[in-house]
Amino acid sequence: MLTDAHAHLTGPGELSYRAHTRTLFCGTDPQTAAQILALQGDNALLSCGVHPWHAQKVTPGDMLPFIRQSAALGEIGLDSVWTDADMDVQRRVFVEQLEIAEALRMPVILHTKGMEGEIERILRRYTVPKLVHWYACERYLEDYIAQGCWFTLGPDYESNPAVQAVLRRVPPDRILTETDGLEALAWALNRPVAADEIEEALRGELRAIAAVHGISEAEAEQRVSGNLDRFLTGGKSRNQQAAGG
Ligand SMILES: [Zn+2]
Repeated sequence: MLTDAHAHLTGPGELSYRAHTRTLFCGTDPQTAAQILALQGDNALLSCGVHPWHAQKVTPGDMLPFIRQSAALGEIGLDSVWTDADMDVQRRVFVEQLEIAEALRMPVILHTKGMEGEIERILRRYTVPKLVHWYACERYLEDYIAQGCWFTLGPDYESNPAVQAVLRRVPPDRILTETDGLEALAWALNRPVAADEIEEALRGELRAIAAVHGISEAEAEQRVSGNLDRFLTGGKSRNQQAAGG
């Protein structure tokens, strides 16, 4: 089974192109979270939270009913590059959601664009599993690794040196694959991408992981799938797991 640990849903029809993929779909506001919830199944899981781009439009309270039905909380974080959202509001919304994650023992998925150093320091206060999505900064990678973060490999791993550093330096038991959805995939590859290319894109990431760690593509596939399991269950107590909660 392939793993897409972070994707935005383009439309319900997309699921038919993900027959061999377990996807953690990301809802960034109540509308997209509800859309994903309606599709949720064994291979389509929900993660949701207030995206930093929406920090002034959506509150953590708006998202809480959906967060409670999610496998993970996020993507959440800070962004100083791709949004004009007020940074103090972003910080407040981010920390509020980290507190929710900690209280509910939910793993978090992080968006760190341009704010990598500050986010790394904030995260040290939190003990839930942390997945850094598409990390693409030349600095701080070792600090994130040192505090036990998981990582998704950005789809531009062939052209982006910072993403290649993630590929080389993150331990194989903490790396996952992602597309970030069709739009992001098209952005990463700088060409239009069709839904029937999703699984091949994930296989390409697996081949890159396999090559770096000297394992087969099949073994990389298995490891990445196991990494998603451990990321998603690591935030729960033994009692919750025993109760299936
Ligand atoms: Zn995303």
